[in-house]
Amino acid sequence: MRGGSFKLFQVAGISVYLHFTWFLVAWYQISSASYRFHRPIWPVIEYIGLFIIVLLHEFGHAFACRSTGGRADRIVLWPLGGLAFVDPPLRASAVLWSIIAGPLVNVVLFPILQLLVMVTGRHGFIDISADPHRVLVDLWAINVLLLLFNLLPFYPLDGGQIVRALLWFRIGPSRSLRAAAVIGVVGAGLLALFAILKSSIWFGILAFFIFSQAGAAFQRANQMELEADLAARGAETTPPASPITGENPAPRR
Ligand SMILES: [Zn+2]
Repeated sequence: MRGGSFKLFQVAGISVYLHFTWFLVAWYQISSASYRFHRPIWPVIEYIGLFIIVLLHEFGHAFACRSTGGRADRIVLWPLGGLAFVDPPLRASAVLWSIIAGPLVNVVLFPILQLLVMVTGRHGFIDISADPHRVLVDLWAINVLLLLFNLLPFYPLDGGQIVRALLWFRIGPSRSLRAAAVIGVVGAGLLALFAILKSSIWFGILAFFIFSQAGAAFQRANQMELEADLAARGAETTPPASPITGENPAPRR
């Protein structure tokens, strides 16, 4: 157990953890979807399909990060999705590739699922009212929704992190992070508004998650700037001892 998550398995040195709340939401989702299926096993299979799509997305992040020479050894799946703990080298291109590879997995899955839906539906291979076809249609839609949702430009969603990495090329790591964080806070506000209009608890939780993460990123950006400032000042001048107090006016960190 680690922060409410337990280890499921390990692939290529990457440990996959599952948060215990995943089961609560899985039970709720499966039981509320079961009326759409003839046999009770199919909503379970559909939820496992969703689990696999999210997992592949996170492995996309992890392996891309590894390919840049970074570290990635942990994936945690929880009800709102997955988190790949990636630590790419501090270069804009390495960060960009580590982030973009996740949504790219969904892009690759799109034609595969599309083909499966077409093949099973068209030739009477499977009755289109039958459960297997329904599961494939649902997974196709889930994959598209996950892709579109992840590309929303609200930090810390993938789209927001892509915006940050792109800005990094022009304005550096700390200012790009601050800009992305501001967009993230604005996005969280929009999602909160949407949650209220639709009375959606999910969007409410999501808005709160994005707001808190973007807020933390804003503070981190300020801290980075402060440290860079101090380092630059320390490098420029080795400050002389103050003639009055005898203290060093610009302490180095
Ligand atoms: Zn992602």
